[in-house]
Amino acid sequence: MQLNEIKGIGPKTISILNKIGIYEVSDFVTYYPYRYELITRSNLDLALDGDKVIVDGIIETIPTVAFFGRKKNSMRFLLNTKSKQVQIVIYNRAYLKRNLLPGKSVVIIGKYDKKHQKIVASELRFGNIKKDTIERVYHLVEGLSRKQFSEYVDIALTFPFEVTDYVPDVLNEKYNLLDKYTAIKEIHHPTNPKLLNEARKKLIYEELFCYMLKVGYLKKNRKQSDGIKKDAHKKEVDEFINSLPFKLTKDQLTSIESIMDDMKSEYQMNRLLQGDVGSGKTIVAVVCMYINYLNGYQSALMAPTEILAEQHFKSFTKLFHNYGINIALLTGSMKTRERKKVLKDILDGKTDMIIGTHALISDDVIYNNLGLVITDEQHRFGVHQRTNLMNKGLKPDMLSMSATPIPRTYALTVYGDMDISNIETMPSGRKKIKTTIKSEKEITDVLNSMYDELKKKHQIYVIAPLIEDLEDTNKNDVNTVYENMQKAFGKKYNLGYLHGKMKQQEKDTVMNNFKKGDIDILVSTTVIEVGVDVQNATMIVIFNAEQFGLATLHQLRGRVGRNDLDSYCILISNQEKERLQILVNSNNGFVISEEDFKMRGSGDLFGLKQSGDMIFKIADLKRDFKTLTMAKKDSDWFLDNFNLEDYKDIYELLSEDKKYVS
Ligand code: ADP
Ligand code: MG
Repeated sequence: MQLNEIKGIGPKTISILNKIGIYEVSDFVTYYPYRYELITRSNLDLALDGDKVIVDGIIETIPTVAFFGRKKNSMRFLLNTKSKQVQIVIYNRAYLKRNLLPGKSVVIIGKYDKKHQKIVASELRFGNIKKDTIERVYHLVEGLSRKQFSEYVDIALTFPFEVTDYVPDVLNEKYNLLDKYTAIKEIHHPTNPKLLNEARKKLIYEELFCYMLKVGYLKKNRKQSDGIKKDAHKKEVDEFINSLPFKLTKDQLTSIESIMDDMKSEYQMNRLLQGDVGSGKTIVAVVCMYINYLNGYQSALMAPTEILAEQHFKSFTKLFHNYGINIALLTGSMKTRERKKVLKDILDGKTDMIIGTHALISDDVIYNNLGLVITDEQHRFGVHQRTNLMNKGLKPDMLSMSATPIPRTYALTVYGDMDISNIETMPSGRKKIKTTIKSEKEITDVLNSMYDELKKKHQIYVIAPLIEDLEDTNKNDVNTVYENMQKAFGKKYNLGYLHGKMKQQEKDTVMNNFKKGDIDILVSTTVIEVGVDVQNATMIVIFNAEQFGLATLHQLRGRVGRNDLDSYCILISNQEKERLQILVNSNNGFVISEEDFKMRGSGDLFGLKQSGDMIFKIADLKRDFKTLTMAKKDSDWFLDNFNLEDYKDIYELLSEDKKYVS
């Protein structure tokens, strides 16, 4: 059934729903809530100062609105609740004013300020609280409200729907799992906690089972199909390595050896190369591409942004200068004529190495004989994009590089279809980045430290957690921080800013200006590109550091300390100092990712959240790790002992690329 058959769903909503994988009405049914909230009226007489409260009442006064700045405002009115009259304050939602007429019933969720008999509302709804209700919480994106979404789900549930239970009967019986139909009904409309638990157990197990089945299947398939057997060209490679201006680290050499073995074997290589920022992954990729070139095949290197692609292109060109290797750059912003020429050379086999962005997987790029595909910062590409590039060659070898190491136990399961190499030893001569924690009160110290670096003609990154603080949460947003920095340094130094809502071209311009040294202080959200190399940047200051996962902070810190200059990372935070202390003590991404995982769970699994690669509907890799291990064992057992053709649904699932992840 089409989405637009539900009343109220138009083209705009459809495009938003598509973003979360809902394409037809029945997709609502398998979009599970990940959490539940009990809505029950708070008793303000009992509530303490600072409590989160839910109250309903009748609006007493016409709201008054005060504007400050272009986008910020606050609105106030009096509300008569059952027990007393309170003042309601709502920030930045002045547009609601015309609906807030005296006499209307509203429900307010917010923080209680007992002394001033005031509630700072985080949520306002019309109507009143009839009785205690359980509310479902779904993972949603901007443009979809919880209430509206729940209604769509309820409508979808009224139509007959088919469910496919991917768990084979033997396993359903083994674990005594609920049937899927009941589980789905229960998950959206729980009848009692026990049954809800059973439903969750079933759906979580199913999701992880399917995931591990796919991983196991990919692995088995790869180890059975024939790839290209290549020669390692050890002599030439050693000569090349010896010609480098530095000695490779032990881990770089070990990684290269494993890669050589992979390339020599008759199986297709599928290797993940993990190593901290600056650990020297690129040179491993270079060697890998060189071997592939010596075997007479084309290689493609895909980077997540144009800046990174250009950076790689420059260093490849420099390294292979005098080798007679033809290297081409292919990006989306190229002029048509230039692009046509590049494409023709790729097709004709004149080009040996192609470095680029997503442009590498456009339909019009036809390779002559693609034998190797490397993706840099692989977690930023969806599996689909990787598979796409892979399909452009004849079983090409695959190398994925990532600067966000994931803990070993998890890597072995979730990346179970890949072999893994880690670079843990850093090139010698790298200095430890001096990391300190400062509270907001100590801002003067921070500014002084910044000034010291600027005087040395060094550059600084300043990171803020938000673009603008619409909710007035007292977090430092990019705009405010930029203004404050401008006040402090603007007379003598040049400042720039960067955030995710800017166009790619604008971002690139700012980034290039920073690279050139035209900008001294770059204020940014976390969008500053992984892998960007500005050697002269020696300090990074991070506001509201408690907002970020350790892995993300470690990534950000990796923007500095890229040569032998002393470098500094200042974490500004009034909270969670114990957690942040881990960063002060360690510079090793593998250690930090283990700690991060222990403390935070997979909410922001090593920065993987944004990739779409590892989004589970209901499972949580940390919380459900035991189930994951079980699912891995069961799926391996299943693949080894059963004939897939007897299981039509599973067979179809495994042949499909999009739905579950490799
Ligand atoms: P990343 O792993 O973050 O991609 P890069 O490959 O960009 O790191 O390497 C960072 C810098 O270190 C580069 O300038 C590179 O030339 C240099 N480098 C790589 N390996 C070594 C080494 N063994 N000794 C010294 N410098 C190295
Ligand atoms: Mg890199």
